[in-house]
Amino acid sequence: MAVQVTTIMIGVEDLARSKKFYGEGLGCTIDQDYPQFVSFNMGGGSSSLALYEWEAAAQDAGVPSEGSGFRGVSFHYIVPSREAVDEVMATAVAAGGDVVREAAASPYGYFGYFQRPRRPPLEGRDQRVVGECEDDADSPARKGKPVSGQVTAAIDASALSRFRDGFAGLVALPEDDGYDAARAVWNGMIDRRPAIVVRPTGVADVLAALRFAREQELVIAVRSGGHSIPGFSTCDGGIVIDLSSMRGVRVDPERRVARVNGGSLLGDLDHEAQAFGLACPVGVVAHTGVAGLTLGGGMGRLQRKYGLTLDNLLSVDVVTADGRLVHASEDENPDLFWGMRGAGPNFGIVTSFEFRLHPVGPMITHGTVMHPVERAGEVAEFYRDFFEGAPDEMWSAFGVGLALPEEDFPPEVTGGPFVFMGGLHCGSLEQAERDFAPMRAFGSPVKDTVEQKPYLTAQRMNDEAQAWGHRFSMKSGFTAGLPDELVDGCLSQMDRVPKGGDCSFSFWSCGRAIARVDVDTTAFPTRDAAFWASAEAMWDDSGLDQDHREWVRSGMTAITPFTVAGRYVNDVAESGEDVVRSVYGDAKYERLVQLKRAWDPDNVFRLNQNIRP
Ligand SMILES: Cc1cc2nc3c(=O)[nH]c(=O)nc-3n(C[C@H](O)[C@H](O)[C@H](O)COP(=O)(O)OP(=O)(O)OC[C@H]3O[C@@H](n4cnc5c(N)ncnc54)[C@H](O)[C@@H]3O)c2cc1C
Repeated sequence: MAVQVTTIMIGVEDLARSKKFYGEGLGCTIDQDYPQFVSFNMGGGSSSLALYEWEAAAQDAGVPSEGSGFRGVSFHYIVPSREAVDEVMATAVAAGGDVVREAAASPYGYFGYFQRPRRPPLEGRDQRVVGECEDDADSPARKGKPVSGQVTAAIDASALSRFRDGFAGLVALPEDDGYDAARAVWNGMIDRRPAIVVRPTGVADVLAALRFAREQELVIAVRSGGHSIPGFSTCDGGIVIDLSSMRGVRVDPERRVARVNGGSLLGDLDHEAQAFGLACPVGVVAHTGVAGLTLGGGMGRLQRKYGLTLDNLLSVDVVTADGRLVHASEDENPDLFWGMRGAGPNFGIVTSFEFRLHPVGPMITHGTVMHPVERAGEVAEFYRDFFEGAPDEMWSAFGVGLALPEEDFPPEVTGGPFVFMGGLHCGSLEQAERDFAPMRAFGSPVKDTVEQKPYLTAQRMNDEAQAWGHRFSMKSGFTAGLPDELVDGCLSQMDRVPKGGDCSFSFWSCGRAIARVDVDTTAFPTRDAAFWASAEAMWDDSGLDQDHREWVRSGMTAITPFTVAGRYVNDVAESGEDVVRSVYGDAKYERLVQLKRAWDPDNVFRLNQNIRP
């Protein structure tokens, strides 16, 4: 029988309650010589339980304790079955545990974990301890109360003052004028209040911020472009290390290599590289961060020709959890480099990237043809053949969108759904004209925007429509094809779009250069899919949140039956070990756990699709 090792964290508010909880509730024996440890047997397994007394820790640290007694406990529980874990958790809840949280079950040996003593609450502010995506209604229901609400870090004033002395960048605290601007992230759904936002100006500041955060036991959110859809780059009560003051790109046109500072945006890289007729394949909205996009994947209009963004990554400089600056590439720390390409936010703060560039443009051919939704079946049938036969230079997409009255759509489709095909051709303009011709000639499109334009223009075209502050939800998967049943499912979901927002389905062609890279080369999981498929909704009125999120969830039910293994981590909003396993698959997940134990055993970088050490 496989031994399952599970860590459960239980928060208890005060000493008197703690004793009652441990003794009467869980039946623990407290060892008089080592009062911080207790042991007990339950659920057919054995455990050791470690208690951490806040008052003692506070006195050591010279911080006022406010008499809060015990603040947290964790225990390692070795049990033979899942049922036994459930039994322990149920007992703990019944005994009055405030938080029961299950960490990764693991097939091997002793699994070390402890929750360190926490500072007492500051104004009752919540601190989310793990990337729980509270704002995503799909987060698995937690047992007992959520971890948030239990603990908050009070920042020690003298430590803050010392930190400021050695920090060159901006520091924003809740009482500062710039705080609301500093805490904002792209998705208007996410409204969190960090205890402190810092903007390093370079590696020295990143090191200082990390050291300060660890000393103060602040939950750390790392931010570059701030586009994380579930809001991983911010937090309540912790620290945001925001690299947006660390933008900058240096292109070496001879070597066709770009060195990109950690806080740069896609537009920075495109702009600098295009000055030399070069480009790195990146995403389709220029204000997205290079860091988050690359470390999870990086899909975009050049992907069939040149692969994902992470396929063009040559090296990274990373500040690791233990406060070192480490270089990782195929030759140096290759294991870390492997994990960085697909699960990167788990392993450190990237301060610099080195990318391979390719000749692109400056003029390319790009655009979309639109048809009435009634013709969706024929358009899809045509598109299936078209995309199969198109060269690597031609990236294309198919989808169903809403022709909103306020936008410039032809009257035939305005006010309802329409179907579209489109793409970008990065080959010669003559070749592009030939390759686009069948798409443009098919049927009688109600609109055709295909034209030659600068690559940079295409790359900036979505910036305004996808500007900061809108409310946004999406779900995605990879599919092996675009069968009629899938298209029909999407169409029937379009009949149910809620009013007041914009809802769509998109299918981006994948394969080719992506598929030519062996799947084991990087942590990125899915290379052989024909399409990346998404259901997306954007709206502005918070009163419409539920309707739109429900639409996205039900939209995804049209896609799910056709998905293949693996998910695009940058789109995933739900949390939990099962979710992360579903992203990477079991084998890669286990390898990532080993890597996490080597590089971040304390799970300092946990606001991401978290690989629990
Ligand atoms: C409008 C929009 C358009 C998008 N278009 C595309 C697209 O075309 N193609 C595509 O593949 N994806 C796309 N995405 C998804 C995008 O790749 C992810 O949202 C990505 O995480 C954004 O990166 P960021 O740096 O802007 O985000 P952030 O919110 O700053 O960070 C995202 C994650 O990365 C971590 N992180 C950030 N900086 C660092 C760093 N320097 N070191 C280590 N970890 C770090 C954060 O902690 C967080 O977990 C889009 C998203 C949006 C909102």
